[in-house]
Amino acid sequence: MDKLEGLVAEIAAEMAAQTERGKVASYIPQLGKVDPKQFGIAVTLADGRIVCGGDADTRFSIQSISKVFTLTLALGKIGDALWRRVGREPSGNPFNSIVQLEYERGKPRNPFINAGALALADVILSGHRPREALGDILHFIRHVADDDSIAIDQGVARSEQETGFRNAALANYMRACDMLESPVDFVLGVYFHHCAIAMSCRQLAMAGRYLAFSGRQDGRTVLSPERARRINALMLMCGHYDGSGEFAFRVGIPGKSGVGGGILGVVPGRASVCVWSPGIDEQGNSRLGRLALERLTQGMGWSVFGPQG
Ligand code: GLN
Repeated sequence: MDKLEGLVAEIAAEMAAQTERGKVASYIPQLGKVDPKQFGIAVTLADGRIVCGGDADTRFSIQSISKVFTLTLALGKIGDALWRRVGREPSGNPFNSIVQLEYERGKPRNPFINAGALALADVILSGHRPREALGDILHFIRHVADDDSIAIDQGVARSEQETGFRNAALANYMRACDMLESPVDFVLGVYFHHCAIAMSCRQLAMAGRYLAFSGRQDGRTVLSPERARRINALMLMCGHYDGSGEFAFRVGIPGKSGVGGGILGVVPGRASVCVWSPGIDEQGNSRLGRLALERLTQGMGWSVFGPQG
């Protein structure tokens, strides 16, 4: 067993024994039914090796981790014109803040807060029907994960569609400011469905390889090294909403969380990592997921801010 395998096994055992696990996201009723006593971790390396621990093959709702993939697609579609639609500064506010959107006149602060992701969905929708836009998103994720079995959990999508009144408020406000092109219902439909994609830690760690390895995976280019760097920068600054500073302070790598309890982490040049534990903290970030990544980056000396002293 090498150092990484030993550490991953140790982290999985430690997380299984934790009693403070955070709370599952019951504001989306279907997510409220998930058993909080689960934990998974998967690490893919530059040589193609993948090291897993705990419930690494259990599928969960990827929720806002999907925004990394829709950002990649929206940048591919309209390039730097995207920055006229959405900013790239940390929000310092909850992911579903309405007040910030109002004082910034409908232009979301960054692509990872909910309003920002609605702007991305609108860009991907442009010129397409919702079914085609969703098909493009799913096709891209299956491609980068190298797994055609990845699918949308329709129960979760329905659950969010029935209760997503705050997201509807954000989308309507953006439309009122002329910041959405497609009908609000189409934009919300695409957004709710891509958040409801179900994947395991192993599948997400595979899907994040292009971000860790300069836009390339399996010998092919997915996007330019410059764009991969920029997406990583946004993940570091904005990927955990108003918990992004704390995540950078403790973990020290670009990461994107989802309220399903997953976190996708990128260790540039070294690894793509996914951890999952359904209990979240007040900022909507996985409690044990962050702790596990903190152990991993410390143990491996993987912080982007410098090696362990
Ligand atoms: N679908 C969720 C929502 O809109 C995504 C939030 C998240 O994962 N942070 O509330």
